[in-house]
Amino acid sequence: MFDLKDKVSLITGGNGGIGEGIANGFADFGSRVAIVGRDEAKCKKAQEKIINNGGEAKYFLCDVASYESVKDCISEVNNEFGSIDILVNNAGTTIRKAPHDLSPADWKAVMDTNLTSVHYFSSIVFNQMKKKKSGKIINIGSMFSIFGAAHVPVYAASKGGVVQYTKSCAIAWAEFNIQVNSILPGYITTNLTDGFRKNFPEDAELVTSRIPAGRWGVPSDLAGTAIFLASSASDYVTGTSIPVDGAYSIR
Ligand code: NDP
Repeated sequence: MFDLKDKVSLITGGNGGIGEGIANGFADFGSRVAIVGRDEAKCKKAQEKIINNGGEAKYFLCDVASYESVKDCISEVNNEFGSIDILVNNAGTTIRKAPHDLSPADWKAVMDTNLTSVHYFSSIVFNQMKKKKSGKIINIGSMFSIFGAAHVPVYAASKGGVVQYTKSCAIAWAEFNIQVNSILPGYITTNLTDGFRKNFPEDAELVTSRIPAGRWGVPSDLAGTAIFLASSASDYVTGTSIPVDGAYSIR
């Protein structure tokens, strides 16, 4: 039921952090994994790790914020692996500034990476999934899909958008047997949160004290939920957003 054997998955930002945790989990369950990112050294390392563990993976360089780059990347994945069965829109970034300090360029950079890219990938891959009458799309949101955040307002706006876009695609594409869901990670130890932990240790401590599970998550904590949403076990689950957060969001 959870088998991903021979399924082709494409994971944006699969070369590090949460995306790599999901990529490793998918490979363990038999998927042929397309790792998508910009940093070639990180891509090579993530690819090697999967291959060394007996899995199948190949990396593809892409800037997810560029429509041309996304189109080219999907064509390359199709040429290498065939059509895409599972799409994980995970690549993300943030800028820590109050709303009144955000420049138009700041706003665009975060929205393009976190939200517009989700539309670019989903709308192109949809055509392949529609033909097969089958597909799984998993979008990575955040605790800030739920909460506001004075210090990362554009990040929160983008992640709120991810959840609404997820619901909209789920409704639009249900008739084609395409399931679209989000995962909302809590506080996970990755490059993205390293700066926060280093530069704001007291705030980071406050976060830790507020997590009922008593610890920050690690990238592999996300793999199980992603495997569920990528597999036939979730064929009647669509449009939902699942927090994977050690109960942070219900406190
Ligand atoms: P990382 O910084 O470790 O990973 C971000 C990934 O996104 C990198 O692999 C990076 O690849 C890729 N990426 C960023 N911009 C682009 C771009 N323009 N084109 C292609 N790839 C890009 O952070 P996380 O693993 O923590 O973040 C993954 C997702 O999880 C993000 O969407 C983030 O918002 C979300 N998230 C993270 C949380 C956490 O606590 N860590 C909590 C909630 C949500 P490269 O280095 O090659 O550019």
